[in-house]
Amino acid sequence: MTDFVAAPFGVRRLASAFGATGDPVSGSAPAGDADVPPARSPENCSKAEASLRTPKSILRHDRIPLHHETDVLVMGGGSAGCSAALAARQSGARSVTLIERAGFPGGISTQALDTFYGFFTPGEEPRKVAGGIGDQVVDALDAAGAIFLRPNTYGAGTGVNYNPERLKLVWDQLLDEAGVRTLLHTHLVDVEGSADAPEGVVVWSKAGFSRIRARVFIDATGDADFCHRSGIACEIAGENEPAQTMTTTFRMANVDLEAYERAGGKRMLMEEMARAVEAGTHPLPRKAGSIHRMNAPGCISTVAVRVAGFSGLDPEDLTAAEKEGRRQAFVYEDFIRDCVASFTDSRIIGLSTGIGVRESRRLEGRYRLTREDCLGRAGFDDKVLICGAPIEDHRAAGGGGEETHWAYVPEGGVYDVPFRCFLPRENNHTLVCGRCFSATHDAHASCRSMAQTMAMGHACGAAAALSLAEDVTLPELSMPRLQDLLRRQGAVLEMPDTVADTREDGWARNRSTQN
Ligand SMILES: Cc1cc2nc3c(=O)[nH]c(=O)nc-3n(C[C@H](O)[C@H](O)[C@H](O)COP(=O)(O)OP(=O)(O)OC[C@H]3O[C@@H](n4cnc5c(N)ncnc54)[C@H](O)[C@@H]3O)c2cc1C
Repeated sequence: MTDFVAAPFGVRRLASAFGATGDPVSGSAPAGDADVPPARSPENCSKAEASLRTPKSILRHDRIPLHHETDVLVMGGGSAGCSAALAARQSGARSVTLIERAGFPGGISTQALDTFYGFFTPGEEPRKVAGGIGDQVVDALDAAGAIFLRPNTYGAGTGVNYNPERLKLVWDQLLDEAGVRTLLHTHLVDVEGSADAPEGVVVWSKAGFSRIRARVFIDATGDADFCHRSGIACEIAGENEPAQTMTTTFRMANVDLEAYERAGGKRMLMEEMARAVEAGTHPLPRKAGSIHRMNAPGCISTVAVRVAGFSGLDPEDLTAAEKEGRRQAFVYEDFIRDCVASFTDSRIIGLSTGIGVRESRRLEGRYRLTREDCLGRAGFDDKVLICGAPIEDHRAAGGGGEETHWAYVPEGGVYDVPFRCFLPRENNHTLVCGRCFSATHDAHASCRSMAQTMAMGHACGAAAALSLAEDVTLPELSMPRLQDLLRRQGAVLEMPDTVADTREDGWARNRSTQN
């Protein structure tokens, strides 16, 4: 593993790749120039120092063409960013742009996964505690016959399983219907202005560099890239507590699922994993790991691979992590085919588009959600969503030992998530949502499920639109007015009395009791 420092790497590559053309990179920044941070070495750059340093831009903004101006600019089209863009338009923002570096929306929801957690509290009497934009997404999937409800392998509550390829289409359609200007294959690379007064961003695409100016900025990049480029304070995962591990998910086809269940299902799988690790027949990275059936017949998806000790922000680390994730996936394939009944003729048919990074940078906002808030069922006057998901902390452990640590919200309850968790301290017209919101390691490990990241996006998009409509800054927004808007849009801000229907086909019945 290499020491983390993203800035010198990126700056030097950009300087050498584009500097000679003189456009749009400043040509007067030779190596060693005061404007260019020194090359990394253990002596001059600790991880903590690197996290505090914001790379100074070497781009000449005056030479970069203006692409367009927008009221709300959402950066990152994951579950949080897509929800934020939808909510901003649906709440009345005149112009909303969403930029996404991939060729499809959804982020981890479509790149790696197939199950939304966080809609339902765990336990004997589950409640449905998220709605709004999240409901629109699941309803559209349901209308296409692309969901079923299933219990979580380890007791985190009922999940909504979906077809991730269909979800790409659903995000496309919802964004188009709402009138969001979506730019795929578009990377945020720089910020115009400063942490206390951002004015616009520089993006890079196959068309080159261009600028987008905005009135409200929503950083939903997962890695808080906008914050990092503009100098807004962030914590780097791994600095205070060990960062959660990364996972390459994979899917297998031609599985006889009935035979698998008859042979003991999950219990049998766990026993076989433990046996393989202890006997050393297959070099699995862990004794645990889940296999679950997918929306397509005879197919399964997994959360089994575990890659530890790499930064999700350093390209050299990420390259090593991607390679290790792929290697482990095929170790699992061998194990599953050799040892698990009914998988003999199955094969891997797909890996996640990229390795799943659970945490990287997180905002240090006006409030930081804590472990005590989660486990103490905290209430806040400025709540904009609620969460009942347990702390689920995937850690590295030697010898294939137990490595996922769980802590449950007592009595199947929920805690409030305050609006201040999305507000940076540095300026009044930026919001930061999704997995880079302001929380400690433990609180993040509870509040990162996608029903909550969609609810965060919903809250931030609605807040952006409301602040523009009322001509007030984000911190000045009236919380009762925002909460009222969110409730009218179907968001859930109070624990419901009704026990949810979490049977496999129960989704629509919960919707009808809600309306
Ligand atoms: C391995 C793994 C398993 C998980 N399992 C589950 C599960 O089963 N169920 C569940 O509910 N949750 C699960 N989670 C948690 C959940 O998936 C994430 O917390 C959530 O998807 C984060 O959503 P997001 O929109 O904040 O970030 P992301 O989904 O990461 O979206 C960020 C988006 O921003 C884009 N982006 C990043 N940088 C730039 C840039 N500079 N310019 C332009 N675009 C950019 C990315 O391409 C991406 O599309 C899991 C997470 C991981 C990693």
